[in-house]
Formats: sequence, structure tokens, C-alpha cells
Amino acid sequence: MIGATSLAEGRRLIAEASRDLAGAGFAPATSGNFSMRVGPTRAAITASGLDKATLSETEVIEIDLRGRATSGEGRPSAETTLHTQLYRRSPEVGAVLHTHSRVQTVASRVLPTEGRIVLAGYELLKALTGITTHDTSLVVPVFPNTQELEVLARQVEAWLDAGHVTYGYLIDGHGMYTWARDMPEARRHLEALDFLLACELSARGFAP
Ligand SMILES: [Zn+2]
Repeated sequence: MIGATSLAEGRRLIAEASRDLAGAGFAPATSGNFSMRVGPTRAAITASGLDKATLSETEVIEIDLRGRATSGEGRPSAETTLHTQLYRRSPEVGAVLHTHSRVQTVASRVLPTEGRIVLAGYELLKALTGITTHDTSLVVPVFPNTQELEVLARQVEAWLDAGHVTYGYLIDGHGMYTWARDMPEARRHLEALDFLLACELSARGFAP
């Protein structure tokens, strides 16, 4: 299975990503959550409500693909369902990053037209696996925020079922979900999408 790793290695990579990404402003005030697939029916995810900048491996818990904790200390966040739906959909999803950067939050508010942001003509689109030229465009959907995560999950499911090429999505006034086959690729996708959203904000006169 692509991206699957051992629970111990998953915990190490998730804790490392958590500290790095929080240090770069992707997870302010204990927000965000990061996960990896650790088997055909298991994932590992950061426990809820912790400071992601100081997260240790013991604060990463194992869950099944319905989001129930199967080992480890702490409890999974309510947003876990948005991770597990991606793992259930495709064996090629090996890592999921949910972030709340300032760029993502502002972009979700000011950039969408009819619930979509189009990123076109950027060289850095090539950082996204499968894109080989700047001469293309990527549609990033922006879903309305809600505390009813099952409602959000159904909207994401419908978008993915429609066959869009998708590396991530935004939630209005909230943040972004990004995924890939493994953690290094997911981190690259996250950095690229965040950078491109910042470029769009700057190009339209907003200070990101
Ligand atoms: Zn969130």
C-alpha cells in the first residue's frame, strides 16, 4: 500500500511535521491536525487540543478508519472524520494535513468566486504531483464552514466523486486540508498551495 508505514515511524514523522509546521505558522493556538496511514485499516493522528509546536510522538494516537481511537493517549479531534474519509476513499492517500495558516484563512474569505479559487499559470503548480507545466490551472474548492462535520464531509465527498483533480480544499474562514501519498509529498503540496494562495492575495492587492 502506497504511503503506509509502521505506527512508530508514523508517530515520529507526524510529531516532526507538527513541530515544523506549527513553527511556520500553520497551526496557531492548538489548531490543525496531522495524520498518516499506518496500515490498510489504521491511521495515526495528532491528539486533540495540544500545542502542535511542542508535540511529542506519545501525543500521536492510532485510530481506525472510522476515527475511533485504537491505541495511544488522548482523544482524536472532531475533525478526524475529514482525515479518515480520504483514507477510506483511496489507498493512495498516505498523509493528510489540516492547517489554519493566516494566508489560508484570509484567502478563503476574499478570493473565492462561486466557492472556488483558480490557480493558473504559476511555475510552482509543478510542485503538485502529476502537474508538469505552469501552463495549466487548478481549481481549489472552498466549502462553507460548519461545526457539523458530517455535512462538510458529504460536500467533500461529492466534490471528489465529481472527478475533480484535487490536492486540497479550503473551508471558509477556517483553513485547508491537503493530502498526498506520503508525508514529504503532503508537506510539499501544503507549502505549494499556501504559497500560491499568498501569491493570489498579493496579486489582488491583499497583504497576505
Ligand atoms: Zn480546523
